[in-house]
Amino acid sequence: MATLPAIGYTCFCMRFDLITIFPEFFGGPLEHGIVRRARESGLVEVHVQDLREFTKDRHRTVDDRPFGGGEGMVLKPAPLFEAVESLVGHGAGDRWKAGGEDAKTAIVLMSAAGKLFRQETARRYAQLERVIFICGRYEGVDERVAEYLATDEISIGDFVLSGGELPAMLVVDAVTRLLPGALGNLASSQNESFSGGAQAGCASLSGRGGRNQEQRASPHDLLDFPHYTRPAEYRGWAVPEILIGGNHAEVAKWRRAGALEKTRRNRPDLLPKE
Ligand code: SAH
Repeated sequence: MATLPAIGYTCFCMRFDLITIFPEFFGGPLEHGIVRRARESGLVEVHVQDLREFTKDRHRTVDDRPFGGGEGMVLKPAPLFEAVESLVGHGAGDRWKAGGEDAKTAIVLMSAAGKLFRQETARRYAQLERVIFICGRYEGVDERVAEYLATDEISIGDFVLSGGELPAMLVVDAVTRLLPGALGNLASSQNESFSGGAQAGCASLSGRGGRNQEQRASPHDLLDFPHYTRPAEYRGWAVPEILIGGNHAEVAKWRRAGALEKTRRNRPDLLPKE
């Protein structure tokens, strides 16, 4: 199926495989921005695998009715096992769960019932050589895939989508931008939400118990600080004075306080309990 090569270079860094019944789905997302640039510069190679190539019947059937009854269809195990086995070049089993030669490969089943995908998950995947994504559809995937084929079962959030393609693409994006050289500026992936960096050691916010929270909050738990660009005044709304003054220490202090304030306002669950 469509292998989207690292144009002009041999890939030496990371390979993603996307197993799906909708291979065309990925055309747009892979062709834009940082992911596109990472492919073009040889940082990543992306292979989209049509699951139906691993069916044997005339109708290329990938799904079947659930045992035990109930509505909807379930993706059959055989095409998924065979697709993964053809990609890794050997049979499935507990072999890759034990580490060894496959320790640098993750086989990720996208699932609303999976473990929550977080920035730290993206950082873990960015250390690997290869990530193979299994995109579910319909009511989901035969549970033996989670039990005996996938190394990880991952959800992108507490909601249900109609397929695993968007979730898989989201993970490809989050991991790609962490690869050294993917972003123009390395600091960009260090000084952002969930990544510590600039927010480390939050400056004090006056009142409302701010100091107490600052001392206890892990820098990894904070959101990014607010950003502003020109014009300095728009519709009468001015950019905070301190950002324009050129005093770097004051700017850093303002940003740390801003990150904490924003976290308190939008994601108080990230802060330690009082
Ligand atoms: N019956 C399932 C939902 C199936 S949705 C349940 O209740 O949990 C069909 C497919 O969409 C899933 O197999 C999975 O691959 C994908 N999907 C849906 N929501 C997702 C989420 N939050 N994270 C990751 N994948 C998701």
